[in-house]
Amino acid sequence: MQKTSLFLGGTFDPIHYGHLRALEEVREALGMEQATLIPAGDPPHRGSPWAPAEHRLAMARAAASQAPGIEVLAFEVEQSGPSYTIETVHELRRQNPEGFLAMVIGMDAFLRFDTWRDWENILELTHLVVIGRPGWPMAELPEGLRQALYQRRVDELAQLHRTPAGKIAFHTVTALEISASHIRSLLAAGRSARFLLPNAVLDYITEHRLYHEA
Ligand code: ATP
Repeated sequence: MQKTSLFLGGTFDPIHYGHLRALEEVREALGMEQATLIPAGDPPHRGSPWAPAEHRLAMARAAASQAPGIEVLAFEVEQSGPSYTIETVHELRRQNPEGFLAMVIGMDAFLRFDTWRDWENILELTHLVVIGRPGWPMAELPEGLRQALYQRRVDELAQLHRTPAGKIAFHTVTALEISASHIRSLLAAGRSARFLLPNAVLDYITEHRLYHEA
């Protein structure tokens, strides 16, 4: 597998076009060949995902199998215990000590970023690309994050290429108002989720009867 230099982490419960399109647009805007999805094992910041990690990993792989340029890293799922992004970033840095590394996160996640373990260290080790997400305008930022932005923000995504890590860029992607929780509630109600996520993922969900009894 190639070195990871651009990645999106998440529970991907299930993965949908909101995740895929955002990562694709950032990948293209940065002029990169590859981007990586990293499904979380046992996320510390929310309740347990509905689908076990092995299924969420398989769904991410099903989505990536139809998307040249997007690959899946199983690192967090294969770890025992909770996944902390700082550990993932350390692992990615072991594989790629000097090169460019950027993490994509949605605005909703960014607004809580100062609650993540060792968040300031994460910012030393990787760039952050914050993507706009419907319903999450940049509200009042906590003081720590405001300071970090003051020190690290760049105006253009392309400026990230000047250094291997340490900067924060905002990037607007096509707004797709899709969430995994909405997909789960549609499926639990026996309704269609078609065109919100790849068919291969929907087929996997049907085959394994995921989300039908939420
Ligand atoms: P849930 O609805 O269960 O909270 P989710 O759809 O937000 O799930 P996550 O796995 O929590 O999915 O998201 C992973 C990352 O993808 C987060 O940084 C999140 O902000 C981002 N993201 C999720 N959905 C979208 C979307 N529709 N557009 C842009 N970014 C998204």
